[in-house]
Amino acid sequence: MGIIETVEQELKQSGAAVTSIGKSVCGNEILCAHRGEYSGKQIIVTAAIHARECYTALAVLRQLRDFHAERGGAYFVPLVNPDGAAFFESGSTFGHEFLRTNAHMRKAWKANADGVDLNCNFDANFGTGAQQSRTAPAAHGYIGEYPLCAPESRALAGFTSSIGPAATVSYHCMGGELYWQFFQDEARRQRDGAFAAAVAKHIGVQKVDGELSSAGGYKDWCVQKLGIPAVTIELIKRGNHPFGPSDYDDDITANADLPMFILDYLYGENYV
Ligand SMILES: [Zn+2]
Repeated sequence: MGIIETVEQELKQSGAAVTSIGKSVCGNEILCAHRGEYSGKQIIVTAAIHARECYTALAVLRQLRDFHAERGGAYFVPLVNPDGAAFFESGSTFGHEFLRTNAHMRKAWKANADGVDLNCNFDANFGTGAQQSRTAPAAHGYIGEYPLCAPESRALAGFTSSIGPAATVSYHCMGGELYWQFFQDEARRQRDGAFAAAVAKHIGVQKVDGELSSAGGYKDWCVQKLGIPAVTIELIKRGNHPFGPSDYDDDITANADLPMFILDYLYGENYV
């Protein structure tokens, strides 16, 4: 069973409320499940915005199964880029011309079906990233014609705005690192840095400080436009792409209770 079917089936069987936040370029639904209360603080956990990192979705599916918070709730979006994920995994092109002509690139693919790198396509210092391409669709790094031009990033931004979460988590691979900073003012830098440190310690990854040379990411957009703490977590400490499902086993275990940990943190008296 492919990753799209795995996600569909697990969400259906979870007993959680499942919705679609929108459709991908090739018409696949971008599914979302909610657990916990609808009142109180909400968090959003996303994974697999980058195609070749699609098995980060498995960490989110585990979190969904294990979720049992006393206050607040969590939205889980395990597969933000279903077209890219299926292309990476099995070479599925859904009849889409750009994917068909790039079949030889599938194991390195990060973008959506149109060759837009969704994690460069958000409206947060768009187009200023050092490693990003402004000119042409590609396997990774192409920012798109304008912010949120890709249906997947547009769906995720629209959904996130409609929820108004207290924090977001985005799973990527690889490096065993956590990124959190994006031009916060001093007060928010203190708050978000402490949040990032707590999350990094809880799951055993390295918190990386400083403004990095990237822009237009979901985390960047959450920090800049919503003013909330948002972290990018890079699973898998060592090795080389492409990674298979079992390569994520240790990370899946280490991250299983992270949504509950984050809600506890956000309700803690030290968090303002
Ligand atoms: Zn990534």
